[in-house]
Amino acid sequence: MIDPGKIGFDFDGVVADTMEAFIRLADEDYLIKVSPLEITDFMVEECLDIDQEIVDEIFSRLVRDPLGVGLKPMSGAIAVLEELAGEAPLTFITARPDVKPVAEWLDCYLTSKTFAGIRLIATGDHDGKGDHIREMGLTHFVDDRAVTGNLLAREEGITPIIYDQPWNLGQHSLDSVDNWQTIKKMCAVVID
Ligand SMILES: [Mg+2]
Repeated sequence: MIDPGKIGFDFDGVVADTMEAFIRLADEDYLIKVSPLEITDFMVEECLDIDQEIVDEIFSRLVRDPLGVGLKPMSGAIAVLEELAGEAPLTFITARPDVKPVAEWLDCYLTSKTFAGIRLIATGDHDGKGDHIREMGLTHFVDDRAVTGNLLAREEGITPIIYDQPWNLGQHSLDSVDNWQTIKKMCAVVID
């Protein structure tokens, strides 16, 4: 069992349903239809036939204004995070460059008591999470990027857990989860 105070979470593709938002914005604002299973690469421009400019614009909107573009939580994420927060403060480490929009999003979805206790880091670098995970005293980290998981697996004392997404399937041999209920079951949450 994982100590709830020693597990950290990536934001996009783990806590937030970034894929849903990407597909919806592509459809509504650029008239481009994308199906989830087409997104077989973390770098979506590598697997989708969409202009780089449009991909960049959609991601820029998601980064700058996640609430404004209607970025939603992954199914079950908030309920499980609230339960874990009853045991220990929540830790989020995102590769996004700017912490403020993520903080505003979390403030919107978490209770004010839970939000007040969170630890949130924006590294601005996909490959730079290991140092922060260690500094935060975490033993486990949930991420949807296979490269990140594979890098973390090489670090002593860190167990990565991959959140299944179409862009990481078959790209790792790490522990994985495909829903938040499983994350809850992996953590030693005291039921009272
Ligand atoms: Mg992610």
